Amino acid sequence: MQGQKKQRAQGVRRWALIAAAALLAGVGTIAVWNAVALRQAVDRRTQQYLADVSNQSAQLIRSRIDAIMGQLVLIAEDLAAGVLSPEGLPARASLAKFDQLAVVGPAGDSPFAEAHAVDLGELPAFQSALNGARTFCPLPEKDGFLYLVPLTRGGQITGVLAGVKSDAKMRLLVDNDCFDGQGSTCVLDSDGAVLVSPVQRPFSASIGATHYSETEGWAQEMQEDLQQGRAGNALLSTADGEEIWLDYRPIGDYELYVATLIPRDLIAAEVDLHARQAIGFAVGAAALLALLSAIGIIYQGRARAQMRRIAFSDPVTGGYNNARFLWEGERLVRQRPAEGWAVIALNLKDFRLVNEVKGEESGDDLLRQVHRALLQQLGEGELAARGEGDTFYLLTRGPQEQLAARMEGFSARLGAIDTAVGRLRVSQGGCFVDPSAPDLGAAERRANLARRTVAEEYPSSAALFDGAFAARQEEEIERLKELEQAFAREEFCIYLQPKYRQRDGRAEVAGAEALVRWVHPGRGLIPPGEFIPLCERTGLIRQLDLLVFEKVCLLLKKWAEQGLAEVPISVNVSRQHLKTAHFLDSYRDILQRTGADARRLELELTENVLFTTREIGKSRELIGRIHQLGMRCSLDDFGAGYSSLGLLKDLPVDALKLDRQFFAGSLDSPRSQAVVRAILSLARALDIESVAEGIEEEGQAAFLWKAGCDLIQGYLYAPPLPTAAFESLLPPADN
Ligand code: C2E
Ligand code: CA
Ligand code: CA
Repeated sequence: MQGQKKQRAQGVRRWALIAAAALLAGVGTIAVWNAVALRQAVDRRTQQYLADVSNQSAQLIRSRIDAIMGQLVLIAEDLAAGVLSPEGLPARASLAKFDQLAVVGPAGDSPFAEAHAVDLGELPAFQSALNGARTFCPLPEKDGFLYLVPLTRGGQITGVLAGVKSDAKMRLLVDNDCFDGQGSTCVLDSDGAVLVSPVQRPFSASIGATHYSETEGWAQEMQEDLQQGRAGNALLSTADGEEIWLDYRPIGDYELYVATLIPRDLIAAEVDLHARQAIGFAVGAAALLALLSAIGIIYQGRARAQMRRIAFSDPVTGGYNNARFLWEGERLVRQRPAEGWAVIALNLKDFRLVNEVKGEESGDDLLRQVHRALLQQLGEGELAARGEGDTFYLLTRGPQEQLAARMEGFSARLGAIDTAVGRLRVSQGGCFVDPSAPDLGAAERRANLARRTVAEEYPSSAALFDGAFAARQEEEIERLKELEQAFAREEFCIYLQPKYRQRDGRAEVAGAEALVRWVHPGRGLIPPGEFIPLCERTGLIRQLDLLVFEKVCLLLKKWAEQGLAEVPISVNVSRQHLKTAHFLDSYRDILQRTGADARRLELELTENVLFTTREIGKSRELIGRIHQLGMRCSLDDFGAGYSSLGLLKDLPVDALKLDRQFFAGSLDSPRSQAVVRAILSLARALDIESVAEGIEEEGQAAFLWKAGCDLIQGYLYAPPLPTAAFESLLPPADN
């Protein structure tokens, strides 16, 4: 089970990691793919931009050359028309910003002064000009350029007008401010030779830094393009790893080319930065997401395990809780139905006392100790769990007839545990599980039902919920119905048992105890012993006590009206009342309603009533309130349980009723006599009236009278009597 869980947790964790990695890889791939696409797009745009700018440069250069050519043509026309004489040429040259102007004959003999002296006859451009073209070429081996236009006279080309412009002037042609100064433009001839390069960053410097070699693919392609007058581009890389875009395109029909170079990163650098940031961000976000979900999955796994622990284990013992007990138990019973399964409900007696006396910490310790002890007593496949509070549930197996012995075994084992309030005592209820339809919850309830019937027994006790028990239960349900009917039909009446006082050697009626009777329409008079326990269990007793109290009040009222002596009458008050707050309010209401004289009324409280309140202070308070209502209060059944004489000093009761058990044996033994005598004298010393109950023999009475007992109540003098019979014993009121 544990292993499986661990494996499952590992599986979950592995899948979480795989999912996280996949997510990361996916996001990373998409981000990189996007960046590549972006890069490509940017490259395309860069090329486009480059081509546009290059084109503009070409047009600009062309128009500048055209303009210069135009000036030269004008001068040539002026010469042809005779408007201008060759002698006027220098003046026109400076006007048109030529360094020199000269008329060259068909032989091409050098027309220029020293600085530009050169033989033009060899130049293809010169030949073209002679053939009627306007041409442009560098001045061989000199710093300058030649502009050549044909000179005509009478429709015949007679020579060429040549203009020279210096390098510096030419450079202005390619000097443009494109690409923020990061690019450079130059003019090439069709052989790829640089004719004009800008001042600030010579083109040759850029291109020289590339691994340029004539054999390289792009270089060959470019040569071809230049020969054919085609435009083109190429991506070059420099020695220091920089990449450069090269664009070249023809300038009109001058057989010249504009070449433009820009760093590839001109635009891409910024885009790259953004792309890198985007990738970084995406991958970072994905990593964070993956991390969070991995943590989430692992945490969820832990939380689930934690929840399982909380949901299925007992916080105090660390063992099974009831939910787990039911679940696991039913599974076991289904798996092995023929094993004689039974559920035992086991409750610790006086656990509350342990908590109160020693504190909850040691209460918890005790629970753990009990849990351990029970586990030791269990066989293979059997279960133990703590249910609510101090109740434990056990699932046992084995022959049915051995269950009682098993329960005894548990009592004995737990009885070895010492608690703050003595040896541990428990009450147990057992219930067999129906293997065909295992319902452990129902078994627990039945086991508890059986347990409660013996919960009050001393010391430890156990009961089985078997066929007989079930039958009794059925019967009890019937009885309960009957009881409720009895209330409705007013089938209850009171009997009064006289209490006698000795006066002048004779016993006379000095009071009575009201005892309830059920006048059953079919079964006749039913004594309280047969229905009071059920009333106690169901809480009906409170209603019953008030009913009796009311009847007594009415009786007292009637006696007062009839002029009969109003002897004090005591009524029994069940401890169940203490469960209701301010229960005395009901008594007060009845007193007020009936107008009975409270001084004639006495409430009999058993020791356990006063014990139920636990704190002696509370008991004193209760007695105080009874006194406030004007009634007396007596301590009933003194000596039946574990009465403590110590109680008497703390509780301001008015009367002490010695239980029949005191006299059950014989008062002959000097020991018993001494005890009774001591109690009676103690009561007298404390100014508490003493009442001896259940006196059946003359000898007992004689002893008690002699020992100073105030009142005697017993069959010796009178049994409980119907009210009319009791009234006949009463003397008329004194006045
Ligand atoms: P209890 O309060 O101790 O009442 C005295 C019981 O002893 C009465 O039994 C009475 O009939 C019986 N008794 C009196 N003298 C003798 C005697 O000489 N010998 C023997 N063997 N018994 C004697 P009863 O009437 O059957 O009542 C039994 C118990 O039922 C009472 O014990 C009391 O605890 C309870 N009870 C009766 N009426 C009420 C009631 O109205 N409210 C409550 N809460 N309990 C009541
Ligand atoms: Ca009583
Ligand atoms: Ca009694």
